Amino acid sequence: MFEKILIANRGEIACRVIRTARRLGIATVAVYSDVDARALHVELADEAVHIGPSPAAESYLRGETIIRAALDTGAEAIHPGYGFLSENPDFVDQVEAAGLVFIGPSADAIRAMGLKDAAKALMEKAGVPVVPGYHGDTQALVLLASKAREIGYPVLIKARAGGGGKGMRRVDDPDQFADALAAARREAKAAFGDDHVLIEKYVEKPRHIEVQVFGDRFGNVVHLFERDCSAQRRHQKVIEEAPAPGMTPEVRAAMCEAAVTAAKAIGYAGAGTIEFIVDASEGPKQDRFWFMEMNTRLQVEHPVTEMVTGIDLVEWQLRVAAGEALPLSRDEIRLDGHAFEARLYAEDASKGFLPATGTLHHLKFPEAPLPGTRLRVETGVQEGDAISPYYDPMIAKLVAHGPDRAAALGALVAALESTEVAGSVTNLAFLAALAREPDFSAGEVDTGLIGRKQDALTKNPEPSPGILAAAVIAASGIHDRPRTSDPWSSLSGYAHFHPIARRVSLRYQDREISAHVAVEEGSPKVLVRDEVDGALGKMQHHLPSPGAGSSGGARIARWPGHITIFDGAIGYDFAVPDPLERADDADATADSMRAPMPGLVKLVRAACGDLVKKGQPLLVLEAMKMEHTIAAAHDGEIAEIAAEGAQVSEGAVLVRFAEI
Ligand code: ADP
Ligand code: ADP
Ligand code: MG
Repeated sequence: MFEKILIANRGEIACRVIRTARRLGIATVAVYSDVDARALHVELADEAVHIGPSPAAESYLRGETIIRAALDTGAEAIHPGYGFLSENPDFVDQVEAAGLVFIGPSADAIRAMGLKDAAKALMEKAGVPVVPGYHGDTQALVLLASKAREIGYPVLIKARAGGGGKGMRRVDDPDQFADALAAARREAKAAFGDDHVLIEKYVEKPRHIEVQVFGDRFGNVVHLFERDCSAQRRHQKVIEEAPAPGMTPEVRAAMCEAAVTAAKAIGYAGAGTIEFIVDASEGPKQDRFWFMEMNTRLQVEHPVTEMVTGIDLVEWQLRVAAGEALPLSRDEIRLDGHAFEARLYAEDASKGFLPATGTLHHLKFPEAPLPGTRLRVETGVQEGDAISPYYDPMIAKLVAHGPDRAAALGALVAALESTEVAGSVTNLAFLAALAREPDFSAGEVDTGLIGRKQDALTKNPEPSPGILAAAVIAASGIHDRPRTSDPWSSLSGYAHFHPIARRVSLRYQDREISAHVAVEEGSPKVLVRDEVDGALGKMQHHLPSPGAGSSGGARIARWPGHITIFDGAIGYDFAVPDPLERADDADATADSMRAPMPGLVKLVRAACGDLVKKGQPLLVLEAMKMEHTIAAAHDGEIAEIAAEGAQVSEGAVLVRFAEI
């Protein structure tokens, strides 16, 4: 076995590989770009090497720099993860030429499967069923159009060099063929520098079912059963599961056998996936699945296979690359229970799944799985990290296992509903809506499911009056000890319910909310009144009696300028205008400056007798868990200033200027 390896990747997959390496006693070297200098994978690895600026083309795609880093640190092998250089045969050649081991298949195997047209021809020869269509060399429009007619509409135009759903166009009508072809070619040229296409029959009610295969350097190839990845948006996977719902032993045997044949045909060693497209109009059938492509690497969704087989695929990759034989034979590999993986992304589902960026000001993953189930959270980020525009905006993968499909799905839903992200838009609510969708729950999946239900799955529900009230109370800061994250329970800490009244302004999307919060003397209730349109009505919220638990309390996160209230998998973001902005408008010649809200004087930067200039920072007030710098409202001489460490109430004088 290796003593030290380098991981030529970032994010969750780099962290995932490091975990297994550590368990096996293998030292790890991370590589990182500028923006990843403090990333989790760098923190977790034993050593880390800076490889360049943030754009992938200048860092994670620079094979030579990465090989140099491996040689300099004494690593013996390179794990490519997925994406980046993982399916680049030239990189594999360079790694081997440098005397290092590539933890993956041979360059030849990658080349054989790299172009979809050549791969299909190869599979056809090996007797693996391929999608009916044209995958020849001639690319003239007239020929392609006549092939499309022969195949029969609808057809799918695919870039032979394609990946990630790019360069693909479905065509329903011969009139649209020429335009669709031009578009697919343009996209393929831009993304892959190759505009060759193939034409396939568009499979009706298609399901994407893939088989995990594994080979070693002694010619052994086994499969580790199938995964269903039919829940897709823009031809990309969203929730994957193993095994495939509705699968019969006969169809499974046929598909797994075809996958093993495919891998053997190219002398495959390492982890690989054979993707099939399945006509599921009548459920999976033995003669209705076709080879689509082979992914010659570890896949994003590999954890579902690990959950149902109990096999660590990264460990197998390391063993096979180190020259060991496969640890288990085909008879020793068993399916146990059911597993789901949901991909949590920074993206806006309601805007066509537009990728987003932002700082993860608040990030909380579920602490424990439901009883009788298992949960795995794969992530490469921590609270406070930013989702940059440079790479895939994945935040985490939530992987749940249960004894059967219903239990596993219940565990996934529970995990999604106890995940909290604030600071960036995410697809969390969409994932939960999809997991609860009746067809999906029933295992009635096909690649068109998300598209058909998109509106229902992606609409943002309006916050309920209870959510609005929780936000208003949280923003009001009436609890003087905001130690807990629960506005109701923190109110219970509000000593003896002193009477208090406060005005609060908030914004939810385009809606301005101006409310009044009052606690009446001796009454453990908060009164929240909407002052604009009365939509909140007049609501009373009973405060839990001091010391009591806060069951049913809201989950809340505070981040700069915002409060997020979580309800299930939905995070409602409220913008909270900084009260100090309004304080700035105060009379610029006033003889004193007052605390805009209750807080703690953290730091004092001026003393009595000082002559100060307008805008000069005088003190720092900590309030509502944030620090606010109080700057001089005008030029003048300080006559009085609050003491460091003082707890001040709203309206208390912080600074008094000397009379001129
Ligand atoms: P990529 O390399 O981009 O992953 P694939 O060939 O694997 O391309 O196809 C991606 C997705 O497109 C599949 O998972 C499936 O949803 C859809 N797809 C591909 N081929 C067909 C087909 N012939 N009929 C219907 N859908 C297809
Ligand atoms: P059955 O219950 O009919 O044995 P299996 O799914 O176990 O069905 O196997 C179906 C076919 O796949 C058989 O030809 C078997 O030899 C082969 N097979 C089973 N498990 C594996 C494996 N892990 N790797 C490779 N081939 C396998
Ligand atoms: Mg694919």
